[in-house]
Amino acid sequence: MFKLVCGAGNEDSESVKRLVYIYAKAGCTYFDISARKEILLSAKSAVKEAGVENCHFCVSVGIKGDPHITKANIRDSVCIKCGNCYRNCPNDAIFSSIIINEKRCIGCGTCAKKCPTGAITMYEKDVNVKEILPYMVANGVEILELHIMGHDKKDLDYKWNIINECNPRLASICIDREYFGNKEVLERIRGMIAHRKPYTTIVQADGIPMSGADDSYKTTLQSVAMAEIIQNANLPVHIVLSGGTNSKTAELARLCGINYWGIAIGSWARKIIKPYITSPDFWENKTTQQNAIEIAKKLIQSTI
Ligand code: SF4
Ligand code: SF4
Repeated sequence: MFKLVCGAGNEDSESVKRLVYIYAKAGCTYFDISARKEILLSAKSAVKEAGVENCHFCVSVGIKGDPHITKANIRDSVCIKCGNCYRNCPNDAIFSSIIINEKRCIGCGTCAKKCPTGAITMYEKDVNVKEILPYMVANGVEILELHIMGHDKKDLDYKWNIINECNPRLASICIDREYFGNKEVLERIRGMIAHRKPYTTIVQADGIPMSGADDSYKTTLQSVAMAEIIQNANLPVHIVLSGGTNSKTAELARLCGINYWGIAIGSWARKIIKPYITSPDFWENKTTQQNAIEIAKKLIQSTI
């Protein structure tokens, strides 16, 4: 299974619509989108326009502290207008005038790492999960995903309980090891799946979140390593690889004996078609669309 990740924080309806349209045309039927009503509408209209049926939608939310629910902020008083952030933002969320488009910011933190003056800070932008998640399930979303990299256990329990109460077809836990060791990661997962039926939970083994900047084995290495840790624990879950995933992921996972259920690709999947989907005449230009579809097809095929 290939899942296109549009970005838990990607609130730009038009860019989500274009991404979903191209990947649906290329054969993708699983889409991971932000838990916003307008984004679900946008994604649904894209698959309809693409003429693709039987698509599955996953919406992602995060606990306090998880980078997937953060956005960047620039302090003007500290900014020297060097342009590093603008040039390195993977989602075109920063204008050349060094102003952030909040809807496009996915919280990857690249800009903050590249800023020489520390002018960029991250802040959290959460959704009302109690209101939005039941709406999503009632409107055909089959998978509810929780990003759990944060220390707020109370928020984790609160949001995980709501996901369970919504009773989606599958619940998904997205976790990486940056702040926790292997032991704590597994303890956290075991606690979360304790009362769930076997194989109704996905564990999305996040290598390095939002890091798929290139197509090398090295970039995807951590996602495969993370999947191996989950696999070795023999948990009754489906394993999906993510976080630095690219066209090399399936090959490396197979070489390492990983029995994965799916591969979720975000940063790399978006990057390879970016020149096409940012084209001003995208909807009119069938050649532009076809070029993007061919590129997307190759990526999807690499995951099978
Ligand atoms: S680099 Fe990442 S965190 Fe910074 S503005 Fe762009 S998307 Fe947001
Ligand atoms: S990288 Fe930092 S200093 Fe340079 S333009 Fe961006 S915010 Fe300003």
